[in-house]
Amino acid sequence: MTQSLLNEKSLWRAVQAELELALSALNYGMWVAVVSAENLTESSLDIICPNPSVKNKLETVYLPLIQESVNKIGKGTYTINFKLADKKPGVNRKFDEPLFQKLEVAPVEKSVITKSGLNPQYTFDNYIMGNTNRLAYAIANAVAENPGKRHNPFFLYSGVGLGKTHLVQAIGNQVLQKSPEKRVLYCTGENFTNELIESIQNKKTRGIASADAFRKKYRNTDLLIIDDIQFIAGKDATQQEFFHTFNDLYMSQKQIVLTSDRPPEEFKNIEERITSRFRSGILADIQQPDYELRVAILRSKRDKDQDDFPNEVIDFIAENVATNIRELEGAYATVLTNSKAGGKQLDIDLAKQALGSIVAPERNKPININNILKAVCNYYTVKAVDIKGKRRTKELVIPRQVAMYLMYELTKTPYMSIGEVLGGRDHTTVMHGVRKVEEELANATSTKKDVMSIKQFIYQN
Ligand code: ADP
Ligand code: MG
Repeated sequence: MTQSLLNEKSLWRAVQAELELALSALNYGMWVAVVSAENLTESSLDIICPNPSVKNKLETVYLPLIQESVNKIGKGTYTINFKLADKKPGVNRKFDEPLFQKLEVAPVEKSVITKSGLNPQYTFDNYIMGNTNRLAYAIANAVAENPGKRHNPFFLYSGVGLGKTHLVQAIGNQVLQKSPEKRVLYCTGENFTNELIESIQNKKTRGIASADAFRKKYRNTDLLIIDDIQFIAGKDATQQEFFHTFNDLYMSQKQIVLTSDRPPEEFKNIEERITSRFRSGILADIQQPDYELRVAILRSKRDKDQDDFPNEVIDFIAENVATNIRELEGAYATVLTNSKAGGKQLDIDLAKQALGSIVAPERNKPININNILKAVCNYYTVKAVDIKGKRRTKELVIPRQVAMYLMYELTKTPYMSIGEVLGGRDHTTVMHGVRKVEEELANATSTKKDVMSIKQFIYQN
């Protein structure tokens, strides 16, 4: 989370979410849930307490915990001032929201889950928390406990394979576990778009009913989860429908959970009124897992599947596969399969062999022009045909030149061949494009950030 996105409200909500997880339900409810935050500056934050006993307790007991959390989430060093609220009736909040409770786990009817689009395998129980996903995990838990209340919308972003889908599905599954009568709907940005297109087409042949059915499906929900919302970028009709769906749900205090491959401010081709809604609730990101988390995930997998997997081999994989959790799980499976198939002892030598290039000192992954084009299109959310096409709008010229630059820089393909791939442009056009980007890279422009992010994407995928 970057500082610019934070005001005292969202900062404090994030801090509360973290403390909710750290403290017992009773202590959280008595001391933390009842206070609010005001006057955030670059170096201080006021915490408004309903009465002197809360103020005293926070100052004497909870200050270090609050301090640490505020500094971490606010990315700075803050002086915390505890103040008493003005004496107004009703300032003392009632304890009306149920706080963390351990639930009796009853099986949820299959049909409820199927209808929701959720995969019941993704739960909080098998999601391992570590330093890199702590806040996301805390907020997800709080959302699942009180959907539609404090953290709405919840916007979760990260690179691929870091656990977004797992975590937001866990919210859905947990809500259904606790309240099977709740209407939970999980879909991807792509599903949402495709269904909308279908309903628009059907409307032409079958009349208004199909558009109604679409709206009903998405708006009659208590919890709507849209995974990979970045898919709606560049698609105007879908954005419009999303906007109205969002407003409808938000106004009726229904919970909205969104995931994306980037933070709201990095969207291209998406309306400002929509990204401002992404920012309006609580945001969290998941970072690349650190070593401890990687080990913990693999050990938990081994224990669950009762695999015969020695610790030192787990450590070896965790040391060498650091990109994301999907690749980590993939590496684990590859080693296991190799040992089973060959009837061989599962040790570090076998793992080294099985993982081959993955654990080699350099990952000499061949990069080809098509991967680059794909990555550029994905990053700027533009279509390859448009990059290859003739239009010269700003939305296309920059991605086109960046594609030229990366193709030249990463593959050393001659200008002429790059020009051919990019819709039959001649070599001077390509040369000019490459130079242009080189110039921009020399200055600290936004193109620089774009190029870095795209490179990272190319190497990781
Ligand atoms: P994303 O949606 O960010 O691309 P996923 O949620 O699909 O990532 O996660 C990729 C894989 O890693 C899944 O199999 C998921 O269960 C697993 N995974 C991710 N994070 C964790 C975690 N913290 N604990 C356990 N498994 C995880
Ligand atoms: Mg996902």
